[in-house]
Amino acid sequence: MMTMNIFSRAIRRHKFPTAVSPWPQFLNEQPNNLSEYVSLSVRSFNSTSMDRSASMADTDLNDLPNEKFMLILGKPGGGKGTISSKILKDFPGMEHVSTGDILRQHVREETKLGKEAKAYMDRGDLVPDEVMIRLVLDDSMSAIDSGKHLLLDGFPRTIEQAIALDENIDVEVVVDLNIPTETIVERIADRWIHPASGRVYNYSYNPPLHHGKDDESGEDLVQRDDDKPKTVRKRLEAYDKVTSPLIQYYAKKGVLKTFSGTMSDKIYPDVKEWLKKMGLN
Ligand code: AMP
Repeated sequence: MMTMNIFSRAIRRHKFPTAVSPWPQFLNEQPNNLSEYVSLSVRSFNSTSMDRSASMADTDLNDLPNEKFMLILGKPGGGKGTISSKILKDFPGMEHVSTGDILRQHVREETKLGKEAKAYMDRGDLVPDEVMIRLVLDDSMSAIDSGKHLLLDGFPRTIEQAIALDENIDVEVVVDLNIPTETIVERIADRWIHPASGRVYNYSYNPPLHHGKDDESGEDLVQRDDDKPKTVRKRLEAYDKVTSPLIQYYAKKGVLKTFSGTMSDKIYPDVKEWLKKMGLN
């Protein structure tokens, strides 16, 4: 069931961070790497949320915003990005936060965060929870304050991340995409990107105009390191082990619906209908 109390839209004020475990070892080895980025994020998070709490107290109940917090779950390569972009087209009042996209942007720009995260991403490992929790809670804050619905894509990936999220916002809608593993393995092998822009092509259903070349710049397309078969298998195994328990976690809360199939185009109409039922516009 959706949470319907008057604070369902509000950020839940808790001391932050509550679910963060000790720093990973690499932070001790290189004290100036991620911690600098992270401490900025925490300061920004705290000040934004305090402003928000103060203004909530003065707000007439009828004026409360009705934006919803929504997640999309699914195996890596299972069409989360495709379904998300369809949702964004049909529900313009939606802010999209994709942790994979944010991390890849950091990698492209060679920020400190990007350099650290790249090693995990290239191996097909998850970036440590404490880093991700701060990254998302910071990035989501501007989306929340913009008065739009929030669509989180790629987060949470672990129960620890889900708990941290829960302590700060009420997730009311969770779309779970259930795509067969075989379909994903084939699909990912066909996915190539243009690194400079982040444009993504797929030789099966969204091919470039000229084989191996970006449509706009004519530059070479490459396969993401984490799209290589060995890494893909590792990511799928990690999903089964670490991320799939989230399906139970949100199902128990009564906010999750699973959509099964092999083609995003076939799945999406059902997703759209359900989102409308859930009050998204
Ligand atoms: P994605 O595009 O969502 O599949 O993310 C690409 C990679 O970024 C993943 O394989 C992880 O290495 C990293 N990543 C993205 N989101 C998370 C997260 N919530 N927790 C940990 N690692 C993440």
